[in-house]
Amino acid sequence: MGPGEVGGEQMLTSAPALTATCSGCQRWTPAEAALLAALPDPAEPLEDAAWCELEADHPGPHYGLGQISATTWWWLRWSSDPPRRELVDAGFCGQRPPPHGPGDCTLPAAHVGRHSYELDSTE
Ligand SMILES: [Zn+2]
Ligand SMILES: [Zn+2]
Repeated sequence: MGPGEVGGEQMLTSAPALTATCSGCQRWTPAEAALLAALPDPAEPLEDAAWCELEADHPGPHYGLGQISATTWWWLRWSSDPPRRELVDAGFCGQRPPPHGPGDCTLPAAHVGRHSYELDSTE
């Protein structure tokens, strides 16, 4: 070992690669938009569409957040086979990431697939 070399200790990075999110998207119907706009104590301005927040290629219906009204999380849940679409109070997961990770999971309670902090939502 020559001068200037230090022991061959390397840090192994154990952070898993982030998984892509589902590309499902639905625009609000006028009735849904009116219902969401009328909710008390909204957390955010209403977006023009619901984007599914689950991981790509997930089984089951899509879930796109509509609005958080006080402590109620309203999600648009939809599927094409069978064709269904409804606004549901599906809560949120709240699973905590490992220490020093990003924020708690913000997907619906009892969602399928990975937690939100394991997904790459920056696309
Ligand atoms: Zn989806
Ligand atoms: Zn979760």
